[in-house]
Amino acid sequence: MHELSLAENLREIIEEESSRQGFARVHTVRLSVGELSCVEPEALRFCFDEVMRGGLVEGALLEIETVKGEGHCGRCDLEVPMSELYQPCPQCYSPLEVIRGLEIRIEDLAVS
Ligand SMILES: [Zn+2]
Repeated sequence: MHELSLAENLREIIEEESSRQGFARVHTVRLSVGELSCVEPEALRFCFDEVMRGGLVEGALLEIETVKGEGHCGRCDLEVPMSELYQPCPQCYSPLEVIRGLEIRIEDLAVS
């Protein structure tokens, strides 16, 4: 399950950050999640709560910002919005290169 390993990953990253920056408690985690990353926000919230139990992120609020997908056609040099991963160029039907919407990134942590 994609969301579970993602949540475990987040926990590792945050724990590393906490030993580097010396915070003991995380209150809010703000994530940006690309529309094309195939992450289901509700499933991620569920896994997040489970995975963070017993750690410094337990009970933290998870804020998810969706990043719109965007692709580029090398042939037409055109940028187009993408709502699914394998969407062709609307003009020439060649495959688009994804330039935005695949990322999963921690934007901000509210800590103490
Ligand atoms: Zn094109």
